[in-house]
Amino acid sequence: MRVEMIPDSMTPDFHTALRRWFRSHGRDLPWRAAPTPYAVLVSEFMLQQTTVAAVIPYFERWMRRFPDIATLAAAPESDVLKLWEGLGYYSRARNLHRAAQSVTAQFGEIIPSDLAALRSLPGVGPYTAAAIAAFAFDQCVPVLDANINRVVARLFNYRENITTKAGRDFLELAAASLLPKSGGRRHASALMDLGATLCRSGVPDCAACPVHHFCKAVDPEELPVKPAKKAITEINDWRSFSRSGDSIFLIESPGPTWRGLWILPPGEPTREPLVTLSYSITRYKVTLGISHGVPQPNWTPFPLSSLPPMPSPHRKALRLILAKKPDGLAREEA
Ligand code: SF4
Repeated sequence: MRVEMIPDSMTPDFHTALRRWFRSHGRDLPWRAAPTPYAVLVSEFMLQQTTVAAVIPYFERWMRRFPDIATLAAAPESDVLKLWEGLGYYSRARNLHRAAQSVTAQFGEIIPSDLAALRSLPGVGPYTAAAIAAFAFDQCVPVLDANINRVVARLFNYRENITTKAGRDFLELAAASLLPKSGGRRHASALMDLGATLCRSGVPDCAACPVHHFCKAVDPEELPVKPAKKAITEINDWRSFSRSGDSIFLIESPGPTWRGLWILPPGEPTREPLVTLSYSITRYKVTLGISHGVPQPNWTPFPLSSLPPMPSPHRKALRLILAKKPDGLAREEA
């Protein structure tokens, strides 16, 4: 398939149109106010698979508790996970913590600007390295998150699957052809905001788009092309609630997803659960049912006033049980 690039002679006009639009329509985000390498690093880890709106309060809280890389590196992992509690995908918190320790040990507390050095940090892949290079160090490099992928695929009317190697290579090449000679931070931020606000998934607002003169999309609502989503698998997970005075019993999560967090112990299925709630994780829809349990030797009591970090569904189930009437049945979507 032949795909035409925007001619070199037109890219200054493209940059001018995008820059003007960004000046008046760019999003006001807390990590953009003072885009230090540390603030950008934290925001990029938090934004992986999470919306901007959900991240903002966590980011602000995080920067108050861990204002710099050295403070984060020195913190116990349980403190890091506790502050991340509710944001999900906890491997990001563990990797961010390890990345801070790595920057402290290997780079003298200075986050590197070099792409290869950034990639050597735990949890930093090609996208995150490019995002830190652009947003923290103002480098002109292609930054390809979901929003920019969509904008670029549409601008160039790319009609192949963007998740294949050929698709990724094309997007990298096309995004590189759009780069300005300076101002990489503003350019990447503008493309990202364009994707988040006007060139959104589904039906874009092309009439309001500052670069519609350059756009080759014929049926933009069909782009970008991606493989069909994997089917959702439904599973049941039975857990126990057990209390002794003001303490409840938990176990440390054995699985990789919630490693370092504490969860309700395994339970038996019952027709009259204390609580049921549903939540989604990757391609699973989980129905969590809670029954009364008898404490086992490997269960650990925690005072309700100082619970360890817990994943949201288990924390919410606990809250519902503690709040419900003695004969009531709580049922809620997580
Ligand atoms: S014209 Fe429409 S499809 Fe093209 S970049 Fe703008 S919003 Fe996206």
